[in-house]
Amino acid sequence: MRCITLLGATGSIGVSTLDVIARHPDKYSVYALTGNLQIDKLALQCQQHKAKFAVVNDEVAAAKLDVLLQASGCATEVIYGMDALCQVASDDAVDTVMAAIVGAAGLMPTLAAVKTGKKILLANKESLVMAGGLFMQAVKESGSVLLPIDSEHNAIFQCLPADYQQAHSSGINKLLLSASGGPFRGWSAEQMSAVTPDQACAHPNWSMGRKISVDSASLMNKGLELIEACWLFDVGPEKIEVVVHPQSIIHSAVQYIDGSVLAQLGNPDMRTPIAHALAWPQRIDAGVANLNLFEIAQLNFEQADLQAFPCLQLAFDTARAAGDAPAILNAANEIAVQAFLDERIGFTQIAQVVGETLSGLSFTEPESLDAVQESDNQARAFSAAYIAKIES
Ligand code: NAD
Ligand code: MG
Repeated sequence: MRCITLLGATGSIGVSTLDVIARHPDKYSVYALTGNLQIDKLALQCQQHKAKFAVVNDEVAAAKLDVLLQASGCATEVIYGMDALCQVASDDAVDTVMAAIVGAAGLMPTLAAVKTGKKILLANKESLVMAGGLFMQAVKESGSVLLPIDSEHNAIFQCLPADYQQAHSSGINKLLLSASGGPFRGWSAEQMSAVTPDQACAHPNWSMGRKISVDSASLMNKGLELIEACWLFDVGPEKIEVVVHPQSIIHSAVQYIDGSVLAQLGNPDMRTPIAHALAWPQRIDAGVANLNLFEIAQLNFEQADLQAFPCLQLAFDTARAAGDAPAILNAANEIAVQAFLDERIGFTQIAQVVGETLSGLSFTEPESLDAVQESDNQARAFSAAYIAKIES
């Protein structure tokens, strides 16, 4: 029986994870569920999955959740704040942690789980982008098992040799990182300048939270994934090729030096990588429909348009620059995406804000988590000030 803490239970990945867990009550039990704003939803999840703990961000949310749980006779204990998040991620009773908080807020609790040697199911790509060096060092030191949930990285993981982490050579030529191209594939920058948040969030193949949906539309998501892949698979950005594949059936592939390409295919449903990582190295039913290749009939591929989607170019440059450049990119992007969702800036201005922030700050090598946090803070302040300037 695996005992699981689910960081970000109320989100898109959280809900899919609980769906898979509920199919296998003999294998998995829920220790803690965490959420930020959707307290009613979290209360229902606690009842349904009999969580021992629920974690929210502040005292007010905790009091509200407590009332709901008591009214329903649910025994879940409510705690709150960052220390509480880190506590449920690192408790001895827990062996598996799903890291599915969105954005930089996921870094501390995910690292707390890593440092205590948990099996980590990593959806929160931002924590690797921000602090990849420190994160991977902590994985090495604690012996934590790190399994990627991001569909592309999960696909690559499945296509790599089983001893890749130890042997790490194995005749690999390139990692082929799939990209759907998002809702604006084939559009020019000019056409994208007036799109609304709802248009940007209407992804053709995947149903996701709003932040990652905007990132998918700008291709920043692919950029963050490129950096994520560099850390997870210990390769440089030149070893990674982005392949736009609009059907999202091939989730990524590994090209070997003998001409072989191994790919992982499946319907675009996050329950597949979630079930893969939960059960690894075994397999369990994910509730996902069988892939019907006859219905799909065609798979297409094209190059990414770096001119129309400058966020991807910025991420490539950042991956090459390394140091705290990815943390700066990530923080500026979080601020810019929120400003776009709040309709304060246009869609194409996201890249402008990120680009200006990267050119406005100098890069350093972060030696500690505090240093990463400092770079993150500086980038947030710089990009917020830049947004205020272009607004007025
Ligand atoms: P979402 O917005 O649907 O959910 C985010 C979760 O994080 C919610 O439970 C929310 O309550 C919690 N949260 C948000 N801000 C918080 C804060 N400040 N403190 C504590 N908790 C907070 O997002 P999602 O689509 O589920 O994505 C989650 C993560 O998984 C992201 O890092 C995303 O990049 C990654 N991911 C998602 C998908 C997908 O299909 N949705 C695919 C690959 C990777
Ligand atoms: Mg992905």
